[in-house]
Amino acid sequence: MRFSGDLQGVENWSTAHDALDELRACGIETDFFCKPAKNLDMVGGREVTRLALPTAGWYLVERGAAATSLDQRLYAQALAAGVTVHFGSTLADDEADILATGPRKRDVVAVGKGIVFETSAPDMSVMLLGHALARTGYSYLLIADGRGVMCCGIFDKFETIHACYDESARLIQSRYQFDIRSPKSFGGVEGFSLRPTFRRGRALVVGEAAGVQDLLWGFGIRTAVRSGWLAARSLIEGTDYEALARAQLLPGMRASAVARWLWELARFDDYELALKVLRAQRDQVGFMRRAYGWSGLHRALYPIAAAALARRYKHFSAQAPSAAKLAEAATLAPVASQPALEPGVETQN
Ligand SMILES: Cc1cc2nc3c(=O)[nH]c(=O)nc-3n(C[C@H](O)[C@H](O)[C@H](O)COP(=O)(O)OP(=O)(O)OC[C@H]3O[C@@H](n4cnc5c(N)ncnc54)[C@H](O)[C@@H]3O)c2cc1C
Repeated sequence: MRFSGDLQGVENWSTAHDALDELRACGIETDFFCKPAKNLDMVGGREVTRLALPTAGWYLVERGAAATSLDQRLYAQALAAGVTVHFGSTLADDEADILATGPRKRDVVAVGKGIVFETSAPDMSVMLLGHALARTGYSYLLIADGRGVMCCGIFDKFETIHACYDESARLIQSRYQFDIRSPKSFGGVEGFSLRPTFRRGRALVVGEAAGVQDLLWGFGIRTAVRSGWLAARSLIEGTDYEALARAQLLPGMRASAVARWLWELARFDDYELALKVLRAQRDQVGFMRRAYGWSGLHRALYPIAAAALARRYKHFSAQAPSAAKLAEAATLAPVASQPALEPGVETQN
């Protein structure tokens, strides 16, 4: 429902292992359109940072109804595995084993608006930063194999999304040369919770329905898949999904909350300084991985970050950490010590 052929990135920076290996370790065939991307222009204030990474920083995939999209190939793989799909009828929550229905209204933290189009322009990835342009989010242009998407995602003042999108589109088109054919609009919200709901009644809740997301930049595909895989495994093996999901997903989610808080503090110069810091890193992917790792620093900053973010996201207020929760946050295992996903593949944070 949210996506209509747009390109999204499966991030490949939050773990030392490759994101596609992780999907394969979950039993997913990577037979969908998937293009590794290593080059990114990050534009912030007067700074343009050209990242040229040694390995794939992210994989571009299609979403929505196209035959080669992630969604449609997962659907085909489910059918091949013997799943029966009932369209046009709704299952009561208490009849479901797993709920994977996407973001809930009460968890909304960001909203995105964009267009998908066909183009003859070469592949490119551009990220545009700027408080007036995208609040504390970002706008982007992604082109891969003749498919293009131009989108703006904002984390604040949602009523400004149309103006932010228009201004971002104008700026992107003034800086980059590309043609737009057969444009189609798309858009949607993203949900995140500081205290994800991993169970509702007897149903195990996964992905954004549970509030599982990346609060820094909204890269939720990997955690959605990961939580779905954990839930399915726990049904088969009789293990405790809630405990596994909390141990494996919460550290990364909380680290992303700390990273978002710091990111919002860095907005004062439209991210010029932040881009300089990123550019100065010898290992930029490693730098991003540290941002998503649940380190001692993250643990120390988490209470301040959670309280600060709760001022803006009202649903976080009810979830602001109590003294007991703070103690629990401090004891969450760092990512590196999580159990392995499958032999040879580390656990995702
Ligand atoms: C504009 C935008 C850009 C994004 N870009 C990226 C990106 O580049 N990289 C990234 O990693 N993440 C990105 N995300 C986030 C990512 O798309 C989500 O985190 C991810 O899709 C969550 O997966 P999910 O399975 O929880 O929900 P969804 O992918 O939304 O899937 C939920 C499905 O459930 C269906 N459904 C809903 N209600 C019912 C019901 N009652 N019965 C049956 N089915 C139902 C919906 O139709 C939908 O197909 C983006 C999000 C937005 C809005």
